[in-house]
Amino acid sequence: MSENFNDPTIKDPRPSSPVVPIKLGLDDSFQFRCRKGIACFNKCCQNINIMLTPYDILRLKNRLGLTSAEFLEKHTVTFDMDAHGIPGIRMQTKPGTAECQFLTPEGCGVYEDRPAACRYYALGATTMRAKDSAAPEEFYFVVKEEHCLGHDEPRTLSVREYRQEQGVEQYDEMTREWREIILKKRSSGPTVGAPSQKSMDLFYMASYDLDNFRVFIASPFFHDVYDIEPAYFQKLLTEETELLQFAARYLKQVLFGENTIPEKPDAIEKRRKRREEIMAKQREQMRRDMEKDMENEIDSPSD
Ligand code: SF4
Ligand code: SF4
Repeated sequence: MSENFNDPTIKDPRPSSPVVPIKLGLDDSFQFRCRKGIACFNKCCQNINIMLTPYDILRLKNRLGLTSAEFLEKHTVTFDMDAHGIPGIRMQTKPGTAECQFLTPEGCGVYEDRPAACRYYALGATTMRAKDSAAPEEFYFVVKEEHCLGHDEPRTLSVREYRQEQGVEQYDEMTREWREIILKKRSSGPTVGAPSQKSMDLFYMASYDLDNFRVFIASPFFHDVYDIEPAYFQKLLTEETELLQFAARYLKQVLFGENTIPEKPDAIEKRRKRREEIMAKQREQMRRDMEKDMENEIDSPSD
């Protein structure tokens, strides 16, 4: 059932706002069609501000044959998602313009792997948790921008049908747990305090830099702490979608103490020992470097 809404996370629907302030459910209908040949073709891609999700990044980096780190470096910019500086990722635009870097005269150059935000347009989607409710609620709304003529096309369909047509279901499924983390972080507000730089770095790697997250879980540090069944661990190393969902579970465990990944009973002791070993090695290296410096000073005394 559709109803009016007033979501503080969405800009207030002012007279100039493109957000139509009507809350839509999956079976609510709206009028819209985008098609090749429409007079406004590609206009929506000439002024973009697209936030990327972990699954968007996975699809795009594979499409372009890049590692996650290369993709992030070449095609994105970071921004603060909240006052605590939780890192978010935005799509880079063509230099000096607001135009999408993947836009070609023929249309979207990465169409089959375009981000969820592009698939949803001209719908918006958001998740909110009501004060008295344990489960977050997802709903949708129409975004009506002047340049977009798709709203005048004679086609009415439900949100459910549009989501199927645009292939957003898989995108939403892949990032469901990750979006829950964002929501929880936002709603926890200042009571929980600012996250440490270490947890921010971890959030960035587990959310966006999947190839490096894979290297991380293959490290002795990770194995000292977590007790993962070998067949499942192999799956994590070889199947990216599995790894992506595990990364969200891992973040929930580290950030919120939701213990779904079993830890080894002697994990803390092993971690302490490994840290000590590393520090001992570092001290040994420092001692050798100092000895070398002293020898050099003796060999070539200054005047
Ligand atoms: S109808 Fe809207 S979504 Fe489609 S090309 Fe035109 S501006 Fe873009
Ligand atoms: S990825 Fe494709 S659909 Fe999305 S803004 Fe860029 S060109 Fe447009």
